[in-house]
Amino acid sequence: MTVSAPGTPAALPTLSIVAPATGALLAEVPAASPAEVAAALERAQRAQPAWEALGPRARGQALRRLARAIRDDERLTDTLVAETGKPRYEAVGMEIFYTLELTRYYTGRAGRRALREEQRRPFLFAIKRARVRRLPHGVVGVIGPWNWPLLNNYADCVAPLMAGNAVLLKPSEATPLTSLRVAELWKELGLPEGVFQVLPGRGEVGQALCDRCDMIFFTGSVKTGRQVGARCGERMIPVVLELGGKSPMIVLGDADLPRAARAAVWSGFANSGQVCIRTERVLVEESVAERFTALCAAEVKALRQGAGGVAAGDQDIDVGAITFAPQIDNAEKQIGDAVARGARVAAGGDGRRPGSGRFFAPTLLADVSPDMLVAREETFGPVLPILRVRDAEEALRLVNESPTGLSGSVWSADVARARALAQRIVAGSVCINDVLMNYFVVEAPLGGVKASGLGVRHGPEALRQFCRLQTIVEDQPLSGRLSPLIQKQLMFPYRPRTLRVLRWFMRRVY
Ligand code: NAD
Repeated sequence: MTVSAPGTPAALPTLSIVAPATGALLAEVPAASPAEVAAALERAQRAQPAWEALGPRARGQALRRLARAIRDDERLTDTLVAETGKPRYEAVGMEIFYTLELTRYYTGRAGRRALREEQRRPFLFAIKRARVRRLPHGVVGVIGPWNWPLLNNYADCVAPLMAGNAVLLKPSEATPLTSLRVAELWKELGLPEGVFQVLPGRGEVGQALCDRCDMIFFTGSVKTGRQVGARCGERMIPVVLELGGKSPMIVLGDADLPRAARAAVWSGFANSGQVCIRTERVLVEESVAERFTALCAAEVKALRQGAGGVAAGDQDIDVGAITFAPQIDNAEKQIGDAVARGARVAAGGDGRRPGSGRFFAPTLLADVSPDMLVAREETFGPVLPILRVRDAEEALRLVNESPTGLSGSVWSADVARARALAQRIVAGSVCINDVLMNYFVVEAPLGGVKASGLGVRHGPEALRQFCRLQTIVEDQPLSGRLSPLIQKQLMFPYRPRTLRVLRWFMRRVY
């Protein structure tokens, strides 16, 4: 299949999209040229005012129609599965499900309320009132990663669109097909032209968006996030950066160990470990470490890995392929380093599978120490390290030493104790006795601290990021006649009497 952006000259760089599970060539996608980025921006700028003028209710209706089309489009699901190599269960049960839930939330009452104009009554100048308006920035550039071609690509456009912006989406060069299919659905539904456009390409296209858009919503690595943040800083445009992490799971001695082990393995190996808020490291109290490790090992050994999910009806796999080839090199490097320094392979360890599909055995590492690469650097692949700690305090110290702070979980039968510990973790969100659920609770903000980024997704907080604020200060309806008198007292020429009154007032009131 060749997916051509209209008007693309043949000489432009082409993205060859290969199915990770089979090695088959899925499509050749021409990258957007600088002229196409410029033309798309112009179209977006022309279309945005009418989209804004529709108002939140009508915009919400349009976005709900698109969400239903995404839900019902088997071609989109097939594309999503094919270009990532993930199990169909994860494509439908995570990416599509999330897109529907997020759309439901933002296009419903909560979203409309978050965008509403507010009135503020000043204490001091009670004759005035302030109207606080929330307006779209204009054209938002959304730059996405390859691990969630729908959830972190189109779904990240829902809030900026709902806020009245036009959006230019640049999906990852490894997985642009799902986003292109969403753009086709947008067109097929007859939704306003130019409001949502997809621009495939490599980093240059992302850079072009940073150079031209009115705001950037970036999801990706810390390294690229720094470059994007720097460029947006230079241009003084708002930016949201959702970056990587090394999210911990702390298992205390009184935890329900079978439940914690199941969660560790799920959050470690779902999406082949290519999940930003996955459990990147487990810190377990030494009194229960052996038993917990054995339970995790049994869970890992039971995982069914394969190329399922390419056709409908094959949900009988748990772990799919590796979407992005460099993740295999990273997994090998981290396992090699850990084993050389004394870690033990408790399950898996067979490495990459020969053949045309890109598969890597889910691998559980025990006896991991904090100095090993796998305990410090983001893995973002199917390797899960277990570290023994003396107690909760040691776990907390190791966790908070990290330069990133994205997510985490605490496991204990004593919820008050778990909560107290969770509150001391320096991370954007923490689950108690659960994992990954912070991503699906779309009512609450989710984002990173430290090098994990700036800003949030989800909740009213995220929606409002896509608005600029404008305050209009005006007279209260009944105080219009007082205003000129007060102005006369406050403005030129200055009067000693006014100063005396001000002094008296400051002493009395403050
Ligand atoms: P990446 O930083 O390599 O690329 C992300 C996107 O940025 C791609 O579309 C890429 O083409 C584009 N890009 C590259 N250079 C650019 C530049 N100079 N200017 C603008 N755009 C540029 O990241 P990736 O490998 O695609 O994704 C994996 C990373 O994403 C992991 O670190 C993971 O933790 C993180 N991630 C974070 C979240 C979150 O919510 N915090 C979610 C998913 C993934």
